Amino acid sequence: MAQSSIEWTEMTWNPTTGCNKVSAGCKFCYAEVMTRRLQAMGIQKYKDGFNKVRVHLGALQIPYSWKGSKVVFVNSMSDLFHPDVPLSFIQKVFEVMNNTPQHTYQVLTKRAERLYELHYKLNWTKNIWMGVSVEDERVVSRIDFLRETNAKTKFLSCEPLIGPLQNMNLTNIDWVIVGGESGRKARPMSEQWVWDIKMQCQEQEVAFFFKQWGGINKKKAGRQLAGMTYDEMPAREIILE
Ligand code: SF4
Repeated sequence: MAQSSIEWTEMTWNPTTGCNKVSAGCKFCYAEVMTRRLQAMGIQKYKDGFNKVRVHLGALQIPYSWKGSKVVFVNSMSDLFHPDVPLSFIQKVFEVMNNTPQHTYQVLTKRAERLYELHYKLNWTKNIWMGVSVEDERVVSRIDFLRETNAKTKFLSCEPLIGPLQNMNLTNIDWVIVGGESGRKARPMSEQWVWDIKMQCQEQEVAFFFKQWGGINKKKAGRQLAGMTYDEMPAREIILE
């Protein structure tokens, strides 16, 4: 578990590590860079490197030790629905989330097809928010797979936004996060693309969260859109222990 600097969550929990690239949004994968660093530092959990998916049984106990009610990004260093993560382990992760309803879990995947294939074998308590990454029009079909799942709260992460996303069907989608890529070689995000998504959210009554412009100096570029900060989120039920 680690505190997170990601604007739409509080902390991260990584019961699995490792992944492989699947689409253009993966090009400058944060998890890959971080894994390389942690591996070089000799951190045991990352010793096998990025391209080998590993499950960590010991990590399953961690959420039981958190105090209060946390908002948790599940698997910032991997993808829970990667084909190398066995269904039995995904079910174990869900069991932990089911048993700790005081916390809100945000699961994000690019493997929307596998999510769809397995969703009916998972217990979707309402503290589990399920999201898919949609970085450009080539992967909008991920939204349709997500829509068909039994997740109670569904969201899109349009980050890094690297192309326009027009005419999205946001039926049964509760939340959309938009953000530009950051880093030295960041691909630019057009302001018009952001406004287009914001308008679609407004028209289809979906919460809109603008995370960042990104770029080489993401702090300087900030996260305001025409002087406004957009931090909308789905309603969260707070259950006290
Ligand atoms: S799916 Fe996510 S974790 Fe996996 S390579 Fe792509 S960006 Fe990285």
